[in-house]
Amino acid sequence: MCAAVSDLMDRVIERDPDQPEFHQAAREVLESIVPVANAHPEILSAGVLERLLEPDRAIRFRVTWEGDDGTVHVNRGWRVQHSNALGPYKGGLRFHPSVNEGVLKFLSFEQIFKNALTGLPLGAGKGGSDFDPRGKSDREVMRFCASFMTELFRHVGPDTDVPAGDIGVGSREVGFLAGHYRRLVGKWTGVVTGKPTGAGGIVLRTEATGYGAVLFADAALQSHGGDGLEGKRALVSGAGNVALHAAELLIERGATVVTLSDSGGLLRVEDGLSQGDLERVGEVKARRGASLAEAVDRIDGAVFVEGEKPWSDEGDIAFPCATQNELDGDDAASLVESGVRAVVEGANMPCTEDASKALREGAVLHLPGKAANAGGVAVSGLEMAQNAGKHPWTRERVDDELRAIVTRIHSACADELRTEDGPVPDYRRAADVAGFRRVAGAMVAAGLS
Ligand code: GLU
Repeated sequence: MCAAVSDLMDRVIERDPDQPEFHQAAREVLESIVPVANAHPEILSAGVLERLLEPDRAIRFRVTWEGDDGTVHVNRGWRVQHSNALGPYKGGLRFHPSVNEGVLKFLSFEQIFKNALTGLPLGAGKGGSDFDPRGKSDREVMRFCASFMTELFRHVGPDTDVPAGDIGVGSREVGFLAGHYRRLVGKWTGVVTGKPTGAGGIVLRTEATGYGAVLFADAALQSHGGDGLEGKRALVSGAGNVALHAAELLIERGATVVTLSDSGGLLRVEDGLSQGDLERVGEVKARRGASLAEAVDRIDGAVFVEGEKPWSDEGDIAFPCATQNELDGDDAASLVESGVRAVVEGANMPCTEDASKALREGAVLHLPGKAANAGGVAVSGLEMAQNAGKHPWTRERVDDELRAIVTRIHSACADELRTEDGPVPDYRRAADVAGFRRVAGAMVAAGLS
């Protein structure tokens, strides 16, 4: 680590010693961007790095809600508004027991560079709660969302901060959140994205993150080696929105999707899952509290291995689409050993620092979430445009635009790739640098704030 990165990191750790995920995200990005900042006195003198490491604000609130049996529950809610240099704060809400301020700060920090890469006018934020929607009734989730929004509404708005979904927050939750916001402010502004399509949402938003990951992987593979996804064996982790839609497009592109997973273990189908299998998994996972293990009887040739992850299987491409740090150094070593060609991050920061190092040393093409999963937030940006324009977008228009944005993100990364980075192109550094150039430029232009 160079002296400038280690000085900045000392300050970050001293300020918030209990935020390991944020330290990890900050360290990874600083290593990429400090050399660029050092070459630009105007960036250094404007304190851009120090400012990016400290969110504009982090709001925390209590969320009180009533269970169906009349029990009163108290959860914590947060919104970290990290940077609005490029547009209104933008990023999802995560409802999961693992949520805390450090996790949200790592996510809002990553979002700065991801949103910048899309080329759309999007700032960066993230929020959520330690509430666990699994096993809750629709009415309980609705009461929770109403209480959450009762606190959040004063901090968000179509030109201020536009939340969306993330883990545990799908179109059902977004529908409830947007509905309560509308009731509170008495205006239809479409302030949360990822709404159900019948309630102002845009078509393809649900599919966009997973589809975007596959489109980005295709572009990167085509430009480094010439062949695409056809005939490849893909290992996918997760069984949520991102994993299922990545798997769907992979199958459509002729790849064989061998695995899915959840916190309970791994589902493996040696000959590959079909589109019908994915639908069945989706149906099972949509049931309250249901686990992937319950899908096994409905899928021909499927086995479920409790407590396992997909990374010791043989595959050509791995798609970690579950959550942060799900793929560690040992997992990466197994992937390298079995000859995996690319790791495509559908989730945010799914690889530990040890994993990233092992992948780099093993000459695996490592496609970072900031670029590979930006399709979701990009289509959220299109939903903002649709709502502001008061005119629905067709599926064809959204699809064309998503493809164009992914191509643009890939070109922006490709412009930053350097041969001296190692045996395979370093897309992680390239994505950080490309995102950083855009946001740093906007911050310098706007003066100190
Ligand atoms: N949560 C998603 C992400 O990590 C989507 C955010 C959005 O649509 O605003 O980018």
